[in-house]
Amino acid sequence: MNKYQELLNRQKSYFNTSITKSLEWRIGQLDRMAGMLKENMNEFYQTVSQDFKTAISEQVFEVNAPLGIIELVKSELKNWLKPIPAAVPKFLADAGYSGAIQRDPFGSTLIIGPFNGPILLLLYPAITAISAGNTVVLKTSVDTPATSALLDKLIPQYFEPEAVAVVSGGVEEVTELLKLPFDFIFFTGSARVGKIILRAAAEHLTPVVLELGGHNPAVIDETADIADAAKKIVWGATTWAGQFCASPGYAYVHESVAEEFVKEAKKAVVELYGDDPKNNPDYSSIINAGHVKRLAGLIDQSKVVAGGESSEAERYVAPTLLYPVAWEDKIMEDEIFGPILPILTYTNLDKAISNINNAPKPLATYVFSTDKTNTDKLLKSLSFGGGGVNIVNVQLFVATLPFGGVGSSGMGNYVGKFGFDSLTNPKSILISPAGAAIDHLYPPYTMDKLQALNNWFEY
Ligand code: NAD
Repeated sequence: MNKYQELLNRQKSYFNTSITKSLEWRIGQLDRMAGMLKENMNEFYQTVSQDFKTAISEQVFEVNAPLGIIELVKSELKNWLKPIPAAVPKFLADAGYSGAIQRDPFGSTLIIGPFNGPILLLLYPAITAISAGNTVVLKTSVDTPATSALLDKLIPQYFEPEAVAVVSGGVEEVTELLKLPFDFIFFTGSARVGKIILRAAAEHLTPVVLELGGHNPAVIDETADIADAAKKIVWGATTWAGQFCASPGYAYVHESVAEEFVKEAKKAVVELYGDDPKNNPDYSSIINAGHVKRLAGLIDQSKVVAGGESSEAERYVAPTLLYPVAWEDKIMEDEIFGPILPILTYTNLDKAISNINNAPKPLATYVFSTDKTNTDKLLKSLSFGGGGVNIVNVQLFVATLPFGGVGSSGMGNYVGKFGFDSLTNPKSILISPAGAAIDHLYPPYTMDKLQALNNWFEY
């Protein structure tokens, strides 16, 4: 038996004791998680910095956001665990029957994270899984060696492996893990690997949440506050050097305000990062030279209106604006996942909507407008996981909003109560008082009894 199978067996036996189902166990594990983050906060900040040279604000999001969600979950958990009463048909209620829904954990959850958000995107799902009463196996990313090494060290110090364990490794290790009958798989990463996960999960009929990426539009109509839109969109597309799943992937601007948008976007790049972004501590590195090469290959130098430079040795791609970009351009083929913002124009909103709808469904969509009719039309006509009006990126950190994709950007969602629901099975229970039979279920089936069956749908 290999070590992963042993680990899974251990977690399953532990889960089957029902210990994870108590409120105390869940709160206890969440407290351990909070303790791990608080007691090692500086080390976490440093490792994120080592992996990304990233801005302090992003380090804070990585570590402080999980702490915030732990507090929120802890304050709500007792209510979430209460069985939910369900109405029953009138004749059953009259006979003393009642219905209840009990949210039941699945068991051992395999959590696979991406390289970006190497703490947040492992611990957010882990907090969700624990709050739902599941055990957890975390798979760290090989692309973030410093952060992964820290989690490899700390998780065994703070958790029993039968409750929360960590596994490091890349494709080979994930392939081995995917052969096992986990009770749930929570995957965050690319659509390409998402398909591999879903195929493997099918073998054991394991339920999944897939948090994937997408090429996210930001639509700017002729009524938008252009300076505000440009600064927010440039920030959204370049923060974490664009290595953020919900970043705007392209700006789609009404032609009458396109020149103004480009002017404001260029201004925003300088306001955010100065004249030398490479040496600005608030500007992140690209995760590795391979991704720099990929991104550099997407930049059509004839369309560069800001930035355009890159250096594999320094893991650097400048905050880059491309204009005017057409749908046929290479940069529009797929999610960019880097600090490059293509700017396209439209003349007719219906045509713009149809162009967006012809592309795979994105994870996020942003609308910049002061016109209610346009805003409502865009929000209604476009299919996307989540998004914002006159704001980008930060919807992910609003714990009362579900986070997840749709279509090729993923399935299932989480954060707060939504995650609790995704990581539990709504077990339905109909309770009869002892001795209260439903006579018309028993033969002989007289006309009166058949007639009584119609009562099933009266509530
Ligand atoms: P990735 O899909 O390459 O890797 C994700 C995980 O899968 C890693 O842990 C990796 O080790 C593993 N993996 C890679 N190849 C595999 C294979 N062939 N078989 C099995 N496992 C494999 O993604 P990435 O490059 O680390 O991250 C970027 C992607 O993640 C982007 O597409 C981004 O949009 C997406 N993402 C989505 C969200 C979200 O919440 N929706 C958040 C962050 C990132």
